[in-house]
Amino acid sequence: MRPFLYQRAGGLAEAVQLAKPDGSHLPPTLAPTQYLAGGTTLVDLMKLDVMRPETLVDINRVDPVGSRIERRGNMLHLGAFVTMAAAAEHPDIRRDYPMVAQSLELAASPQLRHMATLGGNVLQRTRCSYFRDPSWAACNKRAPGSGCAALGGVNRKHAVLGVSDDCIAAYPGDFAQALVALDAAVEIVGPGGSRVLPFEQLHQSPGNTPHVETVLVPGELITGFRLPIAPWTRRSLYLKIRDRQSYEFALASAAVSLDLADGTVKAARIALGGVATKPWRAREAEAELNGRAIDENSARRAAEAAFAAARTHGSNDYKPELGKRTLVRALLQAAQLSI
Ligand code: FAD
Ligand code: SF4
Repeated sequence: MRPFLYQRAGGLAEAVQLAKPDGSHLPPTLAPTQYLAGGTTLVDLMKLDVMRPETLVDINRVDPVGSRIERRGNMLHLGAFVTMAAAAEHPDIRRDYPMVAQSLELAASPQLRHMATLGGNVLQRTRCSYFRDPSWAACNKRAPGSGCAALGGVNRKHAVLGVSDDCIAAYPGDFAQALVALDAAVEIVGPGGSRVLPFEQLHQSPGNTPHVETVLVPGELITGFRLPIAPWTRRSLYLKIRDRQSYEFALASAAVSLDLADGTVKAARIALGGVATKPWRAREAEAELNGRAIDENSARRAAEAAFAAARTHGSNDYKPELGKRTLVRALLQAAQLSI
């Protein structure tokens, strides 16, 4: 690991001040100063020599509010510094947002979940093995303009939705799919002040700049997430399909929430993971379901719509069908939930 400067911020303003941009216009992924939360992504990537920050700003003590989960008016506020384990165990989340609890419980290992924070979780980097191994020269995400070794390489775990000719890396997280499906919002503070965005707008598809993964600018800090309080959040689930049943990233996943009236769909909210370059809202699938009852036929039609634009690259040819079956199963299970 390369030498770096460690600084601990005592408050939000100090953290933002310490991480102030250096004027180089680099995106946060390549910025020389990185925030340190649980460190379970960042320190791994520093050991692998994939990320080479010169300064780490420790944000673990910046904000007591950011370490809490609390109701505020018509929303549930999740602080960005809450650990994955604390959020998964929280009674309000278990009762009212099953898909959130499941997305967190099905991720990583208990040890990691006790270290890792919600803010760090949504900003975790891809598990593409070419990205994580600098002995491969070609990786546009790690070294912009160098090419993409995965396009003609081993791409079994890579994305089929939102891909470009420059990058097909899958977004690896689980929790972000739940946030997208719930129409959550993300709170951000930074050198230019504070802002709140629909969470769905945080991540970007790779296009021709795969190293730009979010709309954050250097120095911006995620401080929390806002979940709507509504009856439909209870009829929700997260289904994750992976090579083994624990401690493994998704090959395909579906976060589904159904608002039903008299057995038909008033509104379906669907996000897909493991198959896309960013947390993926499947609006075409949602449109297929509105006004219909959920059965094998309607669920399959929705799944076909979700993957109509899929592009495969050889070893991941199986993914659209796996993704469709995952979504069909998730929809059928969600329709049966008693709430
Ligand atoms: P850090 O590593 O501290 O930070 C990650 C990045 O985000 C850094 O660039 C940091 O600067 C930035 N950052 C952190 N917090 C903030 C903030 N508040 N504002 C702005 N920037 C911030 N995840 C899953 O979802 N599903 C899995 O199945 C899964 N399996 C895993 C298996 C293993 C073996 C490992 C090591 C990890 C796995 N993970 C999985 C990933 C894990 O969930 C993430 O590493 C973790 O959530 C990251 O959180 P952190 O607090 O440790 O972030
Ligand atoms: Fe790099 Fe993306 Fe290609 Fe993987 S898929 S090698 S992350 S450019």
